[in-house]
Formats: sequence, C-alpha cells, structure tokens
Amino acid sequence: AAKRAGGNIHCFFADTMDPGALEAIELQRDLRRALETNTGLELHYQPKIDSRTGRISGVEALLRWHHPERGAVSPVVFVPVAERFGLIGALGQWVTDEACRQLRIWQDTGLRMHVAINLSVHQLRQTDLVERVQDSLARHDIAGGRVTFEVTESAAMEDPQASLRVFERLAQLGVSLSIDDFGTGYSSLSYLRRLPARQLKIDRSFVQDVASQEDAQAIVRAVIKLAHALGLKVVAEGVETVAQQDVLKRMGCDQLQGYLFAKPMPARHLQLWVMGDGVPARRMQFRDSQFE
Ligand code: C2E
Ligand code: MG
Ligand code: MG
Ligand code: MG
Repeated sequence: AAKRAGGNIHCFFADTMDPGALEAIELQRDLRRALETNTGLELHYQPKIDSRTGRISGVEALLRWHHPERGAVSPVVFVPVAERFGLIGALGQWVTDEACRQLRIWQDTGLRMHVAINLSVHQLRQTDLVERVQDSLARHDIAGGRVTFEVTESAAMEDPQASLRVFERLAQLGVSLSIDDFGTGYSSLSYLRRLPARQLKIDRSFVQDVASQEDAQAIVRAVIKLAHALGLKVVAEGVETVAQQDVLKRMGCDQLQGYLFAKPMPARHLQLWVMGDGVPARRMQFRDSQFE
C-alpha cells in the first residue's frame, strides 16, 4: 500500500513538475539525508547507439532517487529542488564520483565504457567544480577521455563567458562536452563555434516528430548539417520508433538513444545488456521495472 501511495505522489509531481513550497522543503530535507547516509540514490545508465554499426558507443548516467516513503521521485522534480536549496553541488559530486566508481568496476571486469554525466547550470558556477571532477577521476583512476559532460544549451547560455571558461578547463582534463537538449535554447552560432564541444544532442521534441512532420524533419536535417560542419557528432535523444530511427540514419545522425534500444537501467543490467549487444530480443529483458 505504501508503495502504491508513493507511486501516486510520484505521478502527481511528474505531472506538475513543481512541488509546493512545503513539499519542496520536505524533499530537500530528505535529499540531504539521502546524501549524508548514501542511501536511496542510484545511477541508471542508458546506452547511446552508433547508428552505423548498431553497437553501443557509450552510456548516459541518469540519477534515480528512491524516497523511503514516496518511492521513486523523478529527477525532473528533485534536481530543481536540489538547485533551489543549494544541494546540487553535493548531489552533482555524488553523481560524478559514482559514475567514475562504476567505470572502474566495468574496466576491471574487461568492459571499456564511456559515460556521459549531466551537469546543472548551478554546477557551472561552482568554483571547485573542475577540482572535484579531477579528484573523482584520480580517485578511481579513470582517464578523462572516458567521461563526457552533458550541459543543456540553455544552461550554457545563461552565462556564456563563465561557461566557456569552465568548459575549457574541463577539456584540459580530457573530458568531453556535449550540448544537451539542442534546439530548445537560444545559442548564437558564434558562441556554438567557440564551445569546445564534441557532441550535440537533438532534443526529443524534434525527434518525436521527425518521421511525421516536415518542419521537424527540416530542422533536424539542418542541425545535423550545421553540427557536422562544426566538427560535432550528433546524437538523437528519445528515439522510440523504427520510423524515427530510419529517418535519422538516412540524415547521417551519428548516434541514437531512446526507448527503442533501451531504457536507463542499473549498472548490473547494463553489463548483461552489453553482452547481448546486437541481439535485440535479449535487450528487451533488461527493462527497468523498479523505477517505472
Ligand atoms: P536529459 O539529460 O535530457 O535526459 C533524457 C531524459 O529522457 C531521461 O529522463 C531519459 O530517461 C528520458 N528518455 C530517454 N529515452 C527516452 C525515450 O525514448 N522516450 C522518452 N519519453 N524519454 C526518454 P530522466 O532520467 O527522467 O531525466 C530527466 C532529466 O533530469 C534529464 O534530462 C536531466 O536534465 C536531469 N537529470 C537526470 N540525471 C541527472 C543528474 O545526474 N544530474 C543533473 N544535473 N541532472 C540530471
Ligand atoms: Mg542528458
Ligand atoms: Mg537531453
Ligand atoms: Mg532532455
């Protein structure tokens, strides 16, 4: 019964995306405790697929929080709460460290993996961000080249000059930069040209309509051309149908990510999924159930 109630609350939050003030205070208190006790937080990993070979080219780490009473709370809800209450620095640090820890485990079992980590705009303002990242890499003996940070276009644009400085220092660690949710912000082309990014992710809203609407198709085609002209690899996020996959492949999109291939899953499932890479029937076994 408790589980069912938690599920309902989750749905309520997910729909409104803005918990009331009192609920936000409760959530930040519980999130603080989760961080202090290191309980209830977990990273799930969603593969990015090379559109030419059909093989996995890396994973994106997505944070999950299992609240003791509410059950699964979406990051769409608790990340903004963490930002508002000054917890995002600690939370982001936890994510980076956990991703590096997992990379080390995979590497030790013979799995060479590449992980993308989402960075909040608030983390870009953290003065010790780069040192913290360097710490995590060193502690788990991970080469910077194994890690990408995903920053949304709008986050990068909030303070373009400051972001640029952070990105350049991260690039010196060998870490790559990816521009997330591209097409939803307002970045100028001259700024885009200066960003030391390697990858651009086309927002799901365009991907959703790419097989059915000509305007979405025209935008995606133009973005892929632009990105390639700037030397960026393009990832389409939220690919759900074979029709979308076909159109995107035809347009030369480099990587595909979405439920069509795999949902975000716990580390142990990812390892099994990778072992069955190229065998679609097996992929479907490792659906995330706990957080659905
Ligand atoms: P995002 O970085 O753009 O991540 C993509 C979101 O789309 C994820 O939702 C993913 O589960 C979902 N998704 C992937 N494929 C599909 C698909 O085919 N269809 C649909 N409908 N959805 C798909 P999730 O995990 O709920 O995360 C939502 C957002 O929360 C992320 O958007 C990111 O902005 C933020 N987030 C998640 N983890 C972290 C984190 O560790 N740190 C920070 N700062 N933000 C995070
Ligand atoms: Mg992302
Ligand atoms: Mg995204
Ligand atoms: Mg998104």
